[in-house]
Amino acid sequence: MSTKRDYYEILGVGKNATPEEIKKAYRKVAIQYHPDKNPGNKEAEEKFKEAAEAYEVLSDNEKRAQYDRFGHQRPGAGGFRGQDMNMEDIFSQFGDIFGGGSPFDSFFGGGGGSRTRQRKGSNLRIKLKLSLEEIANGVEKKIKVNRLIRAEGVTFKNCTNCGGTGQVRKVVNTMLGQMVSTTTCPACNGAGQLIDKRPPGVDSSGLVSKEDVITVKIPAGVSEGMQLSMSGKGNEAPGGGIPGDLLILVEETEDKELKRNGNDLIYDLHISFIDAALGTTVEVPAVGGKARIKVEPGTQSGKILRLRGKGLKDINGYGSGDQLIYINVWTPKKLTAEEKAKLESLRSSTNFQPHPDSTDKGFFDRMKEYFG
Ligand SMILES: [Zn+2]
Repeated sequence: MSTKRDYYEILGVGKNATPEEIKKAYRKVAIQYHPDKNPGNKEAEEKFKEAAEAYEVLSDNEKRAQYDRFGHQRPGAGGFRGQDMNMEDIFSQFGDIFGGGSPFDSFFGGGGGSRTRQRKGSNLRIKLKLSLEEIANGVEKKIKVNRLIRAEGVTFKNCTNCGGTGQVRKVVNTMLGQMVSTTTCPACNGAGQLIDKRPPGVDSSGLVSKEDVITVKIPAGVSEGMQLSMSGKGNEAPGGGIPGDLLILVEETEDKELKRNGNDLIYDLHISFIDAALGTTVEVPAVGGKARIKVEPGTQSGKILRLRGKGLKDINGYGSGDQLIYINVWTPKKLTAEEKAKLESLRSSTNFQPHPDSTDKGFFDRMKEYFG
């Protein structure tokens, strides 16, 4: 049923390992896969969580004995805790294993306490519209947000439900006998304190909404739907703890002239068939101004010119895209009698009869060449 790895294997210890050996092994694994050392690495985060779960069970004599007997399928209590173990739980576990002077002090705000679990404020989400020019160059924006901050003049009292510890103990009867489990106090949500008095306008968590101006640096090359995160710029946490994050969802304002395809920019250029036949030089819009391009004599409709590196910078630093110019030869719709006569005189000229050679690619060949 279970595809979970063996807890001893995760920590790299034998079945007969002493509590001291288990502690040492966990410490090693936790440092190796700590999110601080592996930012954005999902695999490391999973390994980190897996190790924390293994340690939680193997460091507890009672749980370890049950695990040795029944494996991951613990009877009566629905298996071991694991999936529901969040980062906060794991970091609060560190208080016990590393003591006050742990290498992860940043997570405890320097406090290093093992009992107080860090509470985090909620995340704040905003949408940010950006023009192509802003996306191409990156931009610094000042954004007005309404953040929840801890209000002045709020007084607190100890939570009577948990006696200020933020945790409540629950006794559960199982076939293995009575088991005691500790959960977050539902009355104070783990804060250990409740609001006593609050000024008007302050919500039941002791928070009040305040307008704030935040400077956001947008890197070049972002795209529609991308989410940027500013740590600690979200709502403050009720009572104590660290603020949530500000999440910025990028929205692109469509440019009138340049269409985006990944990091490439596409421009539709219409030229007259006289220019296509005789050749010309034209200016086309480009990021940050104009680009001059040369249209060779005898250019066919549908030709694509490529301005290398004139597209958007890659967000991950993999160079830049190109600007592609699609050439459309425009056929006049109205002609004067004189113009008609001139063209009529050329109709039977052999040079005006289509005779495409191998360099005049059709539509499908071009698509294959540019997007294949
Ligand atoms: Zn409480």
